[in-house]
Amino acid sequence: MTLLQSRPGPPLQLRLARDLTRAIKRGHPWVYTKALRQLPPAMPGAQAVLLDNKKGREIGRGFYDPHSPLALRICATEPGETLNEHWAQKRLERALALRRMLFDGRTTGFRLFNGEGDGLPGLIADVYGDVAVLQLDGAGPAGFWDATGIAGWLAQALALRCVYERGERGRSEGKSLVGDIPAAPVVFLENGVRFAVDIVRGQKTGFFLDQRDNRQKIRELAAGRRVLNLFGYTGGFSVYAGLGGASQVTTVDIAAPALAAAQANWELNGLPSTGHEIVAADAFEFLAGAAASQRLWDLVVVDPPSFASSKAAVPKAIAAYQKLIAAAAAVTRPDGLLAAASCSSHVGLEAFLNACEEGISLARRRATVLHLGGQPADHPTPLALPEFRYLKFVLMRVE
Ligand code: SAH
Repeated sequence: MTLLQSRPGPPLQLRLARDLTRAIKRGHPWVYTKALRQLPPAMPGAQAVLLDNKKGREIGRGFYDPHSPLALRICATEPGETLNEHWAQKRLERALALRRMLFDGRTTGFRLFNGEGDGLPGLIADVYGDVAVLQLDGAGPAGFWDATGIAGWLAQALALRCVYERGERGRSEGKSLVGDIPAAPVVFLENGVRFAVDIVRGQKTGFFLDQRDNRQKIRELAAGRRVLNLFGYTGGFSVYAGLGGASQVTTVDIAAPALAAAQANWELNGLPSTGHEIVAADAFEFLAGAAASQRLWDLVVVDPPSFASSKAAVPKAIAAYQKLIAAAAAVTRPDGLLAAASCSSHVGLEAFLNACEEGISLARRRATVLHLGGQPADHPTPLALPEFRYLKFVLMRVE
């Protein structure tokens, strides 16, 4: 069992064309094609030593993919730190130690490896009870990490019955690396709440673990309130609201299978099915209809998919956030609560708060910010890599 793919020969040497030494030493682990002097041919994932642009001194080690705009991902910057099995094992153990510190038996679904945030570039693993889902972010990581070996390590360290590797979006099928693919959805706990996840057909690795803390916030505020959960997926926010004592919860999503799972999750927690309404609809159309029939909610959650997949798409995304927040505010009763989330890494917190301000103003309302949230502690990010802090969660009281 190996954790890294074995490659013959010494690591490649790559030379910076720009002075990025400071950023890299501070922990920014990405070097783009344009910042390298040459792009020698190599297999994706080949180990490389990075030399500075001035005297050619070594400043870090990582893996290289000449075909990716993100040509080099830095794994280590300490002098003499070589990327070998011992190094990899230490990194995996350190990631596991953090989760053991964070969670007890009430939370059995968590992100175990958060790529760069755990010093494991491109390597993602989510654990759901006794199953884990592995994801390698592109050809570089797939050529560097040994997915099968890591799956074996995971199965042993956490006594798992299955480790499943997600395929690349739209490119390849997923496959099991350890054990059989579960025939039924996998049940896990999050803050004591039960969820069932479909690791093969679900989005991402099956569940949005990154909203855990924000769901908890909604549970604390839901008592006696009518709650609308837009872009509800498999009902994460809805179930928490129900358990928090919401008088009624409406979950809206465009995907009917997600809503069926939301209903199943609701019932899995012993909540009365009469308290949960599911609506398969486009959220914008639903909001227009609800406003026309003057429906109002006490607490509205808006957690859309990323509207900006690239920097170029940001202006359009901002406009969409504004429109959505305006429409959501229009169905929030006076002094009701509105929670708006954005998972687009290209839209920063300030820009998103601005979109909230514009949206609330478009709805001819005013709001107070009660709480700002983001990713939970099992989604750590290097301080020097703001691009990795993608999740924003703005809780407002709308006057
Ligand atoms: N809040 C969820 C995650 C939301 S993911 C959670 O905590 O688990 C985004 C969801 O938006 C997906 O389920 C997707 O099906 C849905 N979606 C995408 N476009 C939509 C639209 N126009 N209207 C309603 N739902 C949409």
